[in-house]
Amino acid sequence: MAGKGFIGEFKEFIAKGNVMDMAGGVVIGGAFGAIVTSLVDDIIGPILGVIMGGVDFTKVGITVGGATIAIGNFIQAIINFVIVALVIFSVIKAFNAAREMKEGKPEEAAPTTKICPYCKSEIDINATRCPHCTSENV
Ligand SMILES: [Zn+2]
Repeated sequence: MAGKGFIGEFKEFIAKGNVMDMAGGVVIGGAFGAIVTSLVDDIIGPILGVIMGGVDFTKVGITVGGATIAIGNFIQAIINFVIVALVIFSVIKAFNAAREMKEGKPEEAAPTTKICPYCKSEIDINATRCPHCTSENV
């Protein structure tokens, strides 16, 4: 068989690098999600519960007939979303600011030329005689 085969193609797919970036993003995203979930469940949830008069926020619901409308869960999902959006926005903003700061300071290259004081031609920085007007000690 002359083809690269399944394994060869798979290796190429992995070696492209962006797959690893993507995997990293997924792993970090997952861990990040856990942090946000914990923040909402363990910190913001109980605080809201206290504010709401000691009730478990997620258990807040309205019973209509036989069905329970879990308003608490829904509100918590919205809070989750807002927090995630806010944190991601902040991270991206900080990341962009850091990148702009980095890009805003380009490394200044050492000058390689100078201007001849006699003929105003651009000549090599180490030249002792101008190649244009042949003046010495330029
Ligand atoms: Zn010159």
